[in-house]
Amino acid sequence: MSFRTTPAVSARELGLTQAQAHSILRADGPNVLPSVPPPSVARLLLRQMVHFFALMLWVAAALAAIGGMPQLAVAIVIVVLLNGVFAFVQEYRADRAASRLRDLLPAKVHVIRDGVRVEISATELVVGDHALLAAGDRVCADLQLRHAEALALDESMLTGESAAVHADPGDIAKAGTFVLEGTGGGTVTATGGHTVLAGIAELTRTAERPQSPLSRELQHVVTVIATVAIALGITFFVITVLLGTPVNQGFLFAVGVTVALVPEGLLPTVTLSLARAAQQMAGQHALVRHLEAVETLGSTTFICTDKTGTLTQNLMSVVTVWTTDGETTVQGEGFDPDGSLDGTAQAVAAAQRTGESALLCVTGRAVRRDGRWVAQGDPTEVALHVFGLRCGRPDHGSSGLHATGRFPFDPRRRRSSVLVDGTLHVLGAPDSVLPLCAPVAGAAEFALAMTERGLRVLAVARRSDVAASVSTVDAAEQNLVLSGLVGLEDPPRPGIADSISACRLAGIKIAIITGDHPGTASALAREIGLLTDGPVLVGADLPDDDQHLGALLDHDGVVVARVTPEDKLAIARALQRRGHVVAMTGDGVNDGPALREADIGVAMGATGTDVAREAADLVLLDDSFATIVTAIELGRATFANIRRFLTYHLTDNVAELTPFAVWALTLGHVPLALGVLQILALDIGTDLLPALALGAEPPHQRTMQGAARQTRLLDGRVVRRAFGVLGPAEAITVMGAFLAVLMLGGWQWGDVPPAALLATASGTAFTAVVLGQLTNAYACRSSSHWVGAVLRRRNPLLPVAVSVEVLLLLVFLGVPPIADVLGGTLPTVVGWLLAALAIPAVVLADAAEKRLTTPRVGTVFQAPFSRLSGRRLSSAGSAPGRHRQRHDDPQSAFDHRRSAHGAAVRGHHRPNDG
Ligand code: ADP
Ligand code: MG
Repeated sequence: MSFRTTPAVSARELGLTQAQAHSILRADGPNVLPSVPPPSVARLLLRQMVHFFALMLWVAAALAAIGGMPQLAVAIVIVVLLNGVFAFVQEYRADRAASRLRDLLPAKVHVIRDGVRVEISATELVVGDHALLAAGDRVCADLQLRHAEALALDESMLTGESAAVHADPGDIAKAGTFVLEGTGGGTVTATGGHTVLAGIAELTRTAERPQSPLSRELQHVVTVIATVAIALGITFFVITVLLGTPVNQGFLFAVGVTVALVPEGLLPTVTLSLARAAQQMAGQHALVRHLEAVETLGSTTFICTDKTGTLTQNLMSVVTVWTTDGETTVQGEGFDPDGSLDGTAQAVAAAQRTGESALLCVTGRAVRRDGRWVAQGDPTEVALHVFGLRCGRPDHGSSGLHATGRFPFDPRRRRSSVLVDGTLHVLGAPDSVLPLCAPVAGAAEFALAMTERGLRVLAVARRSDVAASVSTVDAAEQNLVLSGLVGLEDPPRPGIADSISACRLAGIKIAIITGDHPGTASALAREIGLLTDGPVLVGADLPDDDQHLGALLDHDGVVVARVTPEDKLAIARALQRRGHVVAMTGDGVNDGPALREADIGVAMGATGTDVAREAADLVLLDDSFATIVTAIELGRATFANIRRFLTYHLTDNVAELTPFAVWALTLGHVPLALGVLQILALDIGTDLLPALALGAEPPHQRTMQGAARQTRLLDGRVVRRAFGVLGPAEAITVMGAFLAVLMLGGWQWGDVPPAALLATASGTAFTAVVLGQLTNAYACRSSSHWVGAVLRRRNPLLPVAVSVEVLLLLVFLGVPPIADVLGGTLPTVVGWLLAALAIPAVVLADAAEKRLTTPRVGTVFQAPFSRLSGRRLSSAGSAPGRHRQRHDDPQSAFDHRRSAHGAAVRGHHRPNDG
């Protein structure tokens, strides 16, 4: 690094006037890339008609038509069309939700207008504006640089070249690039569609998005099921033909089997379910940047969180100053520059000199907005700015009056410095600054004492005789004289202890990964109830070996202090090696790699850099740790919901397939209980809404109890429940009711029943499936409680869905033209009673399976669990932050901690989806 002289800064920049900017904006339009025109509705619809399943059904329809079964052909065509429209609507809604999410995070840019620095939306930037750049910013338009202080850009998104590019005054900083280090400013030369980026974006328009892990897994599930369906279809066809049935009849059966097994509605239901979760998360200040992150969030097992701003409020203020002349305390409210210094006259004078240097070093500013003083820039710097003003020092504006060289804060060096009139002022972490200073007795001890009180400590130093010949920052930052040490206070966020105990309950480990001093970090960790006996580590001492590092870190409540961005990357890797699903926060310009490496990169919406946000999977709009926990809870709930409707769909398949199996195995002696069209009516008629309602099941109290499932969607339990328990229960009642009605009507083994009798019997079987599925919808709501225990849980969609389901049942069987086509009539009274047996059958089978699978939970632990969960959940949809402020009652905090221990011991194998 070397100093650069910056002549442009001293001439005061006026920028455009607001009026000029507005008229240019009117003429040129907003600064946005011309958007890719979305594919037309017709194209999207068409796509839904020609995917794999649809094609299969088209072929079936064609064969049915050729085979002389026009009714079946028409029905299949209707099914394909209806199904396509349905999928289209769901995907369209999911897409809309995703694009609404993007609008929640508008890009901001600092410009000089009318001679003052203001923050505007990037879309309002116009040609001629003087825009300012700082490390971490995304460049929003093409700028010709007027000044640049150690400015380095990452142009990889334009050139593919990942090395940092140094930029000098006169160079063009292109839209779409990122500022890696330094600061700068320049005149906008092109916006929106005229930028270099727009030209390149034009080329890449057609590039398809890569497939995500979740969609790959779903594709896998669907392919497996479809293969099984086709194989069975062919087998049945062969059997029927061998049995001497006419080929077209055999074909009918084959189509029926295939159609019965194919889960037509699955994919769009999953997408919509994810989109809905993403929207709910956004309502709780958690913004996912792609839908699959919803699912990954649900399986998070380790959170690496930073301290400042996430666990604390980022309401930094200098409270104490130590100099060789004594200690001074600083009074004041928030970021209000009014305040005072208390101490001996000598000590106050020395503190004021310290304040002067600190003020020169920082570019963050406290500004008055709507009658309140708020931070503009890094809150640590803003606190120092406020401190400088409280010392009575004049404010020289953001660039420093005579600054000839500036080295902004860099988390690797952990200090910043500025050269003003031949004097170098340095501000930074004591362990970074003190070694550069002449030794001062007592300084190191005092710094340590302050960190133990939980204060963030910064050392301020200066050197007055920097010769003009000194050209590098390292040469300049030598032989410093310590001015003083300042201690900053940053209170923890209220209610943070609750979020931490919620994580304990959920079996999620937490580590604080911070650039701050280990003393400050562990004082905070103790205060918020995190550090029980977890180790306190320091970045420089971390082992290089992945396995070592992983073993060292794999505890709840670890504190790692003085970390660099490289350490964060190593930590994420080491934890992943140990099988953890890692969420890692980061806000700095160098945090990108760690955020990308982590399973869930978490960036800050309020204070972080554009670079970090770009690399993240989740953006916390309110920067709060509690929001990560809320997002994890919603992620888990969503994953559980997807498994719910998957179980629901698959159960139905068993009930639908059985009539065919019975028919084939009895060599046709038992007539077919359900026709192909009835199966289609079940799959995309009566089943549809309950499946959707299950996808919208709100988080249950037990969502955050027990460790995360790291299993796949289609795991042993889902398969066992659907194919081994619920499906057979339904199938047996369906076949039982069917045969009973036939026999009551005089049918005997091997007879061909009269058409009217077959229609009532078939209608009864159909009714049994619908009633069984209706019960199944409730059975799928919980993985541990029987149906009776979940009836009163709230899910406003479910009663509606079930009512529609019953209505459809009556229409399908009771409205003559429809009933004629489907081939079934309303059951008799006895038939209704027989069909209704499906309800207790499903209830009992479900309860038995749950009893055998779910370990009993002691009631002692259950009461506090539900209290905690109830509170957390009740805040859903309420005013932001409400639940974070309610937990000041010490008794309840005690309860939470106790319950947390209970979970740590007992919560290991407990299912978490309700
Ligand atoms: P955190 O993880 O708490 O955000 P940082 O990496 O931002 O930590 O900061 C690490 C250390 O660097 C701080 O403890 C402080 O001593 C010092 N520091 C932080 N911000 C600044 C700044 N703007 N200027 C100088 N020093 C700073
Ligand atoms: Mg920081």
